Amino acid sequence: MKPVAILYDDIFLKHDLGPGHPECPARLQAITESLNDLRQDERYIWVDPPEASPDDIARVHSPQYVDWIRQNCEAGGSVYPALEGNLVPETYPAALKAAGAVIQACDKVWDGEWGGAFALVRPPGHHAVKSSAMGFCVFNNIAVAAQWLVDKKKAASVLIVDFDVHHGNGTQDAFYSDGKVAYFSTHQWPHYPGTGSKREDGEGNGIGANLNVPLRAGDGDDEILSAFNDRLKPWTEERKPEFLLISAGFDAHEDDPLSEIRVTTDGYRQMANVLKEIADDHCMGRWVITLEGGYNMKALGDSSRAFLEGIVG
Ligand SMILES: [Zn+2]
Repeated sequence: MKPVAILYDDIFLKHDLGPGHPECPARLQAITESLNDLRQDERYIWVDPPEASPDDIARVHSPQYVDWIRQNCEAGGSVYPALEGNLVPETYPAALKAAGAVIQACDKVWDGEWGGAFALVRPPGHHAVKSSAMGFCVFNNIAVAAQWLVDKKKAASVLIVDFDVHHGNGTQDAFYSDGKVAYFSTHQWPHYPGTGSKREDGEGNGIGANLNVPLRAGDGDDEILSAFNDRLKPWTEERKPEFLLISAGFDAHEDDPLSEIRVTTDGYRQMANVLKEIADDHCMGRWVITLEGGYNMKALGDSSRAFLEGIVG
């Protein structure tokens, strides 16, 4: 059996937005602790991923923005309001490695070397737009990797599923008129960042390749599973993706402080079961998960574990 890779590096703990910030290094520690016994499980391998090159980041970001982040980090860091926190010197190498992890995961899973992969990375990515950080995101890791698949592997149809409780405006933007990379999102709405209405369905070549399923405050497992089963599955039948990329934010959890959606830990396991079915039916079993949000440490650790177990099967 092909191993499932867990990609992680301590550099992700050195990126620090400032005291009391919810997007903190302890988030990743909660997940690695929760997955720690998998180090003895031969179905998994733990991988120290490489950095992405600035040119790879520039597949979806402007080179000027990439260089601006580099310069500010090398100069010792600075307050950066677009990030709702600080840049520190380690932010740039951590952000390069976060994108590099998702690229490496796509490379190895596409080639059939790994049976799937979970990139445990910080900073997260799905709010970052072409020429700016946004939310707690610096470079849009999943968008960079999806574009890399199109450019390098000649992927004709990639599906991104984003179940972070916040709409992934940056990822939607990157592929809104693209057509090769489809974007599906469940998220609380209205809520930060304000985008994600069901009327946003793509433009030009991308018409129909963007599907938002907004959830209301108070919704939980039933509503999100119905979005997966009744909206995502039939849409996927039409689109026939070759590869499944997952923006996994666990901030829709009932115990998360940043939302009013009430998904349970077991709900994440059931969502993973649906995504496994989609990957098996359409994508030759190829899936890559990257971490986005999730701000209750216990819920984050438990849900990551449940989700991974659900998709590995
Ligand atoms: Zn989020």
